[in-house]
Amino acid sequence: MDRPWSPGSTILDPADGDGESRASGTPFAPSPVFASTYRLAGDPHAVAMQYGRFANAGWQALERLLGRLEGGEAVVFPSGMAAAVACLNPFLAPGDVLLLPADGYYTIRIYATQWLAPWGVEVRTVATPEVEAADLAGVRLLWLETPSNPGLDCVDIGALVARARAAGTLVVVDNTTATPLGQTPLALGADLVVSADTKALNGHSDVLFGHVAARDPAHAERVRQWRTLTGSIPGPMETWLVQRGLMTLDVRLERMSTNALAVATWLRAHPKVAAVRYPGLPDDPAHAVALRQMQRFGCLLGVTFVDDATARAFLERSTLIQEATSFGGVHSTAEQRSRWGHDAVPARFVRLSVGIEPLADLLADMEAALG
Ligand SMILES: *Cc1c(COP(=O)(O)O)cnc(C)c1O
Repeated sequence: MDRPWSPGSTILDPADGDGESRASGTPFAPSPVFASTYRLAGDPHAVAMQYGRFANAGWQALERLLGRLEGGEAVVFPSGMAAAVACLNPFLAPGDVLLLPADGYYTIRIYATQWLAPWGVEVRTVATPEVEAADLAGVRLLWLETPSNPGLDCVDIGALVARARAAGTLVVVDNTTATPLGQTPLALGADLVVSADTKALNGHSDVLFGHVAARDPAHAERVRQWRTLTGSIPGPMETWLVQRGLMTLDVRLERMSTNALAVATWLRAHPKVAAVRYPGLPDDPAHAVALRQMQRFGCLLGVTFVDDATARAFLERSTLIQEATSFGGVHSTAEQRSRWGHDAVPARFVRLSVGIEPLADLLADMEAALG
């Protein structure tokens, strides 16, 4: 199912090490720089490093790499939500209309209704499968999430961008589920891409992180200014861990996508499973769109069991698949999304994130769990 990554975009470009040299005696990877304060004599604008909230060498190294993968200019944040908010407030004003997916990551919807609506932004929602037909007249900012979490519906980014341009609407894509090695929204014409790197991009379940990337440098500058003014900055250690995690994203995604397709195929043939959603399944409703715009179909599956008790038994009896929220890590994880009370899914629906375990072990574990 893997298709080749776009030209010239290996993660492992030696120039990303320290940004300039391949000289003997230099390390492969940049080390974290722990500094709030730099020596700063005279004119503060004469040097790049002045104060820790303004810049950090680790952010810059990771931003160079992410920017190259996204095809734009990247700005890093301490979490996916910090990155998401940096694509909302700086681009909206009271009186503006924001159109959000009704079935996307719920915290973004809660933020919009609890903080943006009282500020005067009109917040509208539409289910992902219906957004392609939505009226964009008067919409200032269109937020897309494709594949959506947890429903795994996909929308045609390019087609929506064309309609949004005509309406003067800014397009932001939450690309968390796909990662830049699975899908590049900026190349499809989106204005901004946001990612919770907490998930597959870092992939080791040990860091919260996020980034924004923009095609227009003026947009990137606005996002960076928001970070500086609000102090929404990632720590040097977290930045370094994400840089380290990112080195293996290509091989992790390759393994996770292959495993996910095999697990999806196995599960839907099982008599205790009512339905499986995975954009990589050839007859999935999202497959045609996914095939057009994704390089890889990712690690996430939506599994609807025949009843609630089977869903519980699957979670309780699996040993390799751990019951946990979040997704995209090297370990397989799963949960009933209904337990949070925010997603319109039944209790027998389980979101399954397939990890990098040997496939035979995963299949044996599921076989034992479903008995
Ligand atoms: C997890 C997630 C976020 C938020 O990321 P955090 O790092 O938890 O703040 C945003 N969007 C999507 C699609 C997510 O899955």
